Amino acid sequence: MNKLTVKDVDVSGKKVLVRADFNVPQDENGNITDENRIIGALPTIKYLIEHKAKIVLCSHLGRPKNGFEPKYSLAPVAKRLNELLDGCVTLAHDVIGEDAKAKAAALKEGQVLLLENVRFHKEEEKNDPAFAKELAQFGEIYVNDAFGTAHRAHASTAGVADYIKTSVAGFLISKELDIMGGALEEPKRPFVAILGGAKVSDKIGVINNLLEKVDSLLIGGAMAYTFVLAQGGKVGNSKVELDKVDLAKELLKKAQERKVQLLLPVDNVVANDFNANADSQVVESMKIPDGWQGLDIGPKTAENFANVIKNAKTVIWNGPMGVFEFEKFAVGTKAVAQALAKSNAITIIGGGDSAAAVEQLGFADKITHISTGGGASLEFLEGLELPGIARLNDKK
Ligand code: AMP
Repeated sequence: MNKLTVKDVDVSGKKVLVRADFNVPQDENGNITDENRIIGALPTIKYLIEHKAKIVLCSHLGRPKNGFEPKYSLAPVAKRLNELLDGCVTLAHDVIGEDAKAKAAALKEGQVLLLENVRFHKEEEKNDPAFAKELAQFGEIYVNDAFGTAHRAHASTAGVADYIKTSVAGFLISKELDIMGGALEEPKRPFVAILGGAKVSDKIGVINNLLEKVDSLLIGGAMAYTFVLAQGGKVGNSKVELDKVDLAKELLKKAQERKVQLLLPVDNVVANDFNANADSQVVESMKIPDGWQGLDIGPKTAENFANVIKNAKTVIWNGPMGVFEFEKFAVGTKAVAQALAKSNAITIIGGGDSAAAVEQLGFADKITHISTGGGASLEFLEGLELPGIARLNDKK
C-alpha cells in the first residue's frame, strides 16, 4: 500500500481524529449483536493510547434522518469500548457542539473521546466543507480506519482530510488493502474468484476487472441465470435481468478471449414458489421447467466449485450461491464456505452475506481474511479508487 499509516507519523501528545466504523447491529433493546467492527478498530486505538495521543473517535451508526435520535446514539458503543479499553473512553453528547469541544479540550494523553453519530448532521453525507472543517478541529492528525465506509465521500471519511495536513490510514484499512491489493496485484496462482448474489448489474464492474486477473471465475446465485439465458438455456421463473443478457454474452466472450475458466452452474435446486418451505427438485441448469425458479446451485455444481477451490492458491468470494436465508436453499452457499475453510489457499471474503454465512457456520477462523466492508470491498475488487483512501497522504 502506498499510503502513510499511523505508524509512519509521530502521534505522541498530538490530537488525533480517528474515523472508525462502529456501525454495529443492535437488537431492539440496544444490545450490540455483533461487535466485530468494534474489535476490528481496537489495534489502531490501542496503538494511539500506547503512543500517548489524545484520541477523538468518530463514526456513523445506521441512517438517522432528523438530527439526534436516541436509537442511533453511539452510547452502547462507548460503553463497550470503555470495557475493552480499561475505562479510558468518554462519550460526547454531540458531534461538533459545546460538549464535544469541551471534552476534547480536556483530553489527556492516552485518553479517548467518542463523538456522537456523525450522521446526526445531514452535512456528513453531503460532504459539506464547513462541517468537515469543524470536524477537522479535533485533530492535528487524521486517521481513517473505517474501511466499511471508505467508498463513500462523506465529511468524516474524505472531506475532513482537506483540512488536516497529516492524514493517514489506520491498521484495519492497511490490512484490508494489503491483503486484497496483494491478491489482485500479485496473486498466488491458480487465482479463483467466486461471485454470487442477486444481480449481475451490481457486479458488472467486478466481473470485468476480475476477468483480467483470475484463472477461474465461478458464478452462482441468481446472477447465474442471466448467463444461462445468454447461452440459450431455459430459466423458468428464475430471477433474471433481461436487459443484461447481451452484457452476459460479452462477458462470456471476454472470458474465452482471456482464457479464463468461467464456470456456471450445471445443476440447480429449483422451487415452485419463493418461500422457505416450497417444494423443490434438482434439475439441469439449462432446463429449468416453466413454473419453477432456481434458488440454489445443485450438488454437482457445488462439487465442481469445490474441486476448483481445492486446487486454488488464492480465492476471493463475494455473494451467496442461493437464497441462503432459507435453510433449504443454503446448501450450496454452505458447500462453498466449507470448501474455502478446507482450502490451504489465501482465502478472502468480500464482506456482506458470504461473510455472514462463514461466520454462522463457525468457519471464520479458517479464512485468511474476511473484509469488514461489503460495498467497499466490491468497489476495491472493481479496481476503483476509494475516496476515503485516495485523500490520505502518499508514502514518499
Ligand atoms: P447480493 O447483495 O447481490 O450479494 O445478493 C444477496 C442476495 O441474493 C441474498 O439475499 C440472496 O437471497 C439473493 N439470491 C441469491 N441467489 C438467489 C436466487 N437464485 N434467487 C433469488 N435471490 C437470490
